[in-house]
Amino acid sequence: MFESLSDRLGGVFDRLRGRGALSEADVREAMREVRVALLEADVALPVARSFVDKVTEQAVGQQVIRSVTPGQQVVKIVHDGLVEMLGSDAVDLNLDVTPPAVVMMVGLQGSGKTTTTAKIAKRLTEKGRKKVMMASLDVARPAAQEQLRVLGEQTGVATLPIVVGQQPVDIARRALQAAKLQGFDVVMLDTAGRLHVDAQLMEEMKAVARVAEPDETLLVVDALTGQDAVNVARSFSDQVELSGVVLTRMDGDARGGAALSMRAVTGRPIKFVGVGEKLDALDTFDPRRVAGRILGMGDVVSLVEKAAETMEQDAAERLAAKMSKGQFDMEDLRSQLRQMRNMGGIGALASMIPGLAKAKAAMANNGPDDRLLLRMEAMVGSMTPKERAKPDILNAKRKIRIAKGSGTTVQDVNRLLKMHQEMSTAMKKLRKMGGMKALMGLMG
Ligand code: GDP
Repeated sequence: MFESLSDRLGGVFDRLRGRGALSEADVREAMREVRVALLEADVALPVARSFVDKVTEQAVGQQVIRSVTPGQQVVKIVHDGLVEMLGSDAVDLNLDVTPPAVVMMVGLQGSGKTTTTAKIAKRLTEKGRKKVMMASLDVARPAAQEQLRVLGEQTGVATLPIVVGQQPVDIARRALQAAKLQGFDVVMLDTAGRLHVDAQLMEEMKAVARVAEPDETLLVVDALTGQDAVNVARSFSDQVELSGVVLTRMDGDARGGAALSMRAVTGRPIKFVGVGEKLDALDTFDPRRVAGRILGMGDVVSLVEKAAETMEQDAAERLAAKMSKGQFDMEDLRSQLRQMRNMGGIGALASMIPGLAKAKAAMANNGPDDRLLLRMEAMVGSMTPKERAKPDILNAKRKIRIAKGSGTTVQDVNRLLKMHQEMSTAMKKLRKMGGMKALMGLMG
C-alpha cells in the first residue's frame, strides 16, 4: 500500500534534501508536486488542497529556509502534516463497558463485512482474551448466516444459533440475551449489506442500533473503491453514529487515497485495515507508522517489534537504552544486521528500514540477501572500535582501508554509512515522537 505515493514523494524530497539552501520558490514548487502526488494517489481534492496549503505555510517560513538543513525540515513538516491528516493517534476499540460490549458491523454488500467480523472476533479472542459471540443479522442474502457460522467454526468463535425466518431486530435481541446469560464479553452483530446505500438499509440499521445500543459501530468499506469508499462512509455517518472505519483490501490498494482522506472527510478514525483474505490478515491502523512508511522513513517500530521476537532479552534492553539516548552506533547496526539474517533476510524487512531497499537495489548484482548482510557485517568488522563508536571520523583514507579489509568498495562503505545515518535519524525521530515508551514496553 502507498507504494506509488511513497515513490513520488521520495523523488520530491530527495531533490530538496540534496541542496544546501532553499528559496521560497523551491519550497512552493516542491509543494505543488506533493499536491499532484496526493491527487494521483486518489486523495479527495479538498483534503489534498487543505493539506498542501497548511504545510506550505509552515514550510516557507524563514526559520525553515534559513536553517542548515532546510530539506529535512520540510520533510518533517510534511510528515507531521500527514500524521495529523491520518488522525494522529491509533484508536483502539472501546470495549471497556459492563459486558457484553456490543460491536455493530455495517457496510455495503461485498465490502468484506462478514470476513472482517470474523477477523475482529478472532483477534479479540486470541489477543484480547475475550469471550466473543458473533451473530448474523443478514436475512437478505440467502447464505449470509451460514457463511458466518462457518467462519465461526474456522476461528473457534461462538455464533448465535440460526433461527430461520427471524428478523434482524429480533435476532439482535436474542443475541444480547444469549450473551448476557452465557457470560460473553463481546457480541458482534453482522448487519445486512446492500449493493447501494438505500433508505431501507438505513432504517433497518437504525432499528437494530436502537435495540442493541452498540458500544462500537464499525463501518466496513473497500479501499479499492477509492473516493467511492469515502462517499459511502460519509452517507453512513450522516445516518448512524459511527465509531470507526475498517478499510478492507488494503493489500490490493497501492494508491491509498481512501485511507488518506477518510479521517478528514468523515471525522472518524480508521481502526483496522484488512490486508488479505486470511482470517488473521487484519492490522491496526497507526497514523505515525503509516506516515513514516509513506515518507520512506521506514517502519522502525515494526522492525523493533520483529527484532524483539528473536533477540535475546538483554540485547534488546541494551539497544532500547541506547536508542532512548539517541545513540545508535556501528556496533548496534552490526547486531541489527545479524538479527536480520536470523529473521529471514532482507526481503521481509526492506520496507521497514530506511535506506535498506535502496542499498539492496544498488548492490543487487552481489548475490542473495544473506551475502549482502554478510558483506555489510564484514565492513563493520573492518572498522576499528573507535570508528564503530564514532563513524563521523571515517575519512576517505579510512574508508579505503575498510573497503580493502572487507573485500568491498568505497561506494559500498558509503552506502552502509548512509543507511546507518538514516536509521539513526529515524530512531531519534521515533524517540521525539514518544515512541520509546511503547518500545520499552514491548521489550521490557
Ligand atoms: P460482505 O458481503 O461485505 O460480508 O463481504 P465478505 O466478507 O463476504 O467478503 C467478500 C470477499 O472479499 C471475500 O472473498 C473475502 O475473502 C474478500 N475480502 C474481505 N476482506 C479482504 C481483504 O482485506 N483483502 C482481500 N484481498 N480480500 C478481502
